[in-house]
Amino acid sequence: MNTAQTIQNKVNLLDFSREKLASFFKERGEKPFRANQVIKWLHQMCVDDLTDMTNLSKTLRETLAEHCVIKAPEVITEQASSDGTHKWLLRLDDGNCIETVFIPEGDRGTLCVSSQVGCALDCTFCSTARQGFSRNLTVAEIIGQLWAAKRTLQPDPKANRVISNVVMMGMGEPMLNFENVIDAMHLMLDDNAYGLSKRRVTLSTSGVVPAIDKLADRLNVALALSLHAPNDELRDQLVPLNKKYPIKEVLAACQRYLDKLDSVREKITIEYVLLAGVNDSDKHAHELAQLLKDLPCKINLIPFNPFPKTKYQTSSNNRTHRFKDILIENGCVTTRRKTRGEDIDAAYGQLAGKFKDRSRREIHFARIEE
Ligand code: SAH
Repeated sequence: MNTAQTIQNKVNLLDFSREKLASFFKERGEKPFRANQVIKWLHQMCVDDLTDMTNLSKTLRETLAEHCVIKAPEVITEQASSDGTHKWLLRLDDGNCIETVFIPEGDRGTLCVSSQVGCALDCTFCSTARQGFSRNLTVAEIIGQLWAAKRTLQPDPKANRVISNVVMMGMGEPMLNFENVIDAMHLMLDDNAYGLSKRRVTLSTSGVVPAIDKLADRLNVALALSLHAPNDELRDQLVPLNKKYPIKEVLAACQRYLDKLDSVREKITIEYVLLAGVNDSDKHAHELAQLLKDLPCKINLIPFNPFPKTKYQTSSNNRTHRFKDILIENGCVTTRRKTRGEDIDAAYGQLAGKFKDRSRREIHFARIEE
């Protein structure tokens, strides 16, 4: 199992995709359909006690107890905002902490999920980058964010408490923790687990070209590209990964991704953080529209969330509107994200996953499109 955690030599059942669990049962002479039963208990009922799995024989439960544990990240705190946004601080086994945010909007509920502790990419406007990279999250730690959120939200009968969407827009670059992210996303889509629609699960990337190509062969989910600049010269400064995979190559990979999907209606989401005086001029907007004219996409303009000692500033409302108007006039589908959960510091870039030996780390999370 890929970087799965073993706890007292036991495997963590939350680390298994359905396929891997089926092989696990097969190897032990059990029927592979047991995997479906166990996956349902784990991810639909969110149980963390094998004795609750009442449709398994006592002997099988005992065998499982001998070899397996069910261990999700531990919920340290849960906060609810007046606008319905929820934020959890989760502690991992090694003492690192991550945060997960749930944002209800109409009949949709979006969970923002992290893929790594820290990030190895060095995007200059990103506070996570300041903290460096600690490690990849395991499958259990990625899916455990969904598991923990669902478990808390489930008992509330009120509307808007259902997780309908997941965005991999928390800490880390999901493409650089590829196998674990793929397994976790399989569980998100699996009808025996979270059963989310593939259009409602979004992987956001800075543009790791070979991984974009690999993704289409493994999984069909919505793809978001953190573009942030309309030319290589500027993007090299904002997203250093651009020096390795320049814009033209990344956009070509996005087009190939769309070409491999079964539906022709799909679009890439282009994320563009507006930085005052850096990438938000009329000229940039025209250049962006020109750059994207052949790619089926929708542009999401993101207000910059300032953090201590950053050299960047948020673009004004006027500037943002003007930028958006130019894109729309030039035929680009464009939305602008708005902030949620401000009263619990769950707004843009305010999330703070506390790291072992480190005082504070901020992450960004999904914002709702206006
Ligand atoms: N590494 C992935 C996913 C994590 S970041 C990626 O780059 O897409 C999720 C989104 O938040 C990205 O579009 C990222 O560029 C954006 N972001 C990072 N720092 C931000 C900040 N300070 N303010 C607003 N958005 C930010």
